[in-house]
Amino acid sequence: MNFSSDTAAPAHPAIIEAIAAANTGAASSYGADKWMAAAKAALSDVFETDLDMWLVPSGTAANALALSLLCPSHGAILCHAEAHIERDERGAPEFYTGGAKLSLLPGRYAKIDLDALKRRLDANRPGFVHEVPACALSLSNLTECGAAYSAAETAERAELMHPHGPVHLDGARFANTLVSTAKSPADLSWRAGVNVMSFGATKNGAIGCEAILLFGEARKLAPDLMARAKRAGHMPPKMRFLAAQMGAYLKDGLWLDLARRANSSAKKLADVLTTAGGKLVYPLDGNEVFIDIEPAVVKKLNDAGAAFYPWAGKTHRFVCSWNTSEADISGIATVLSPS
Ligand SMILES: *Cc1c(COP(=O)(O)O)cnc(C)c1O
Repeated sequence: MNFSSDTAAPAHPAIIEAIAAANTGAASSYGADKWMAAAKAALSDVFETDLDMWLVPSGTAANALALSLLCPSHGAILCHAEAHIERDERGAPEFYTGGAKLSLLPGRYAKIDLDALKRRLDANRPGFVHEVPACALSLSNLTECGAAYSAAETAERAELMHPHGPVHLDGARFANTLVSTAKSPADLSWRAGVNVMSFGATKNGAIGCEAILLFGEARKLAPDLMARAKRAGHMPPKMRFLAAQMGAYLKDGLWLDLARRANSSAKKLADVLTTAGGKLVYPLDGNEVFIDIEPAVVKKLNDAGAAFYPWAGKTHRFVCSWNTSEADISGIATVLSPS
């Protein structure tokens, strides 16, 4: 009954098999291999556009490298106050950008409030040398509260930003967003104005593989991305083993099947917890359940060995993964049954 995070989940067997299958003979190094070409083709196919991409083993590296392409060291990246890049990356975005400032915005469910964004951008004076101008916007979908931005909500924010600079999307849990919004990858990214994206696979079944995607005009940043990846130590000689993960992840829609499983487990778990008196505090748009539960319930669950995360006050976070089983959920139901 481990609901601590989807990072705690194992890798899907198809990912392991793909790595074993790529482990045959010599291959070109540093991303010039056929698995990398296949991963790029598969990503272009899934996103319905010719894109450029690079693979890294963590979401932090993907976000920080992506943002370093979009914002100069003397500029600001607008993001939500709860954003992973602000709260959970130990200053990696600041480090990789050479000191760019994160400029924090409010909003319910960790979605950037449209009016707050508008006010910030109306006051943007890039020509006034004393201030730090907003040069890029970073959105997360799912958000840090497990909520999904719709395609329209993404587009509204991107449209406001574009006169000032590009838009980055942190898609560490993009698969979970997709299956709950029933939108296409393109609709929730470049068609909604996203220029550069961190596309996660690790939480949803890979070992360690996150893609930095460059859409449209942003493709001209590819040489800069290569240079920055190399300088940051993110140009692994045996890239084929990362690329094989991405290929297997996307093949025959495996990634969407896995996200469907995780999301459906989260719904079942939420039912069990609300039946036991819990109150959902954020929208359940993916695989994360944020719920207020009483201390007595917390104690029962802890005593039974269930793992989950205290968030704030009575709010606790339960994350389901592709590997969450019926037994995990019925185990929680049994612990909380009144008898
Ligand atoms: C998990 C996560 C990441 C990636 O984190 P790493 O631990 O560096 O892989 C990035 N953004 C969000 C919103 C996340 O939830």
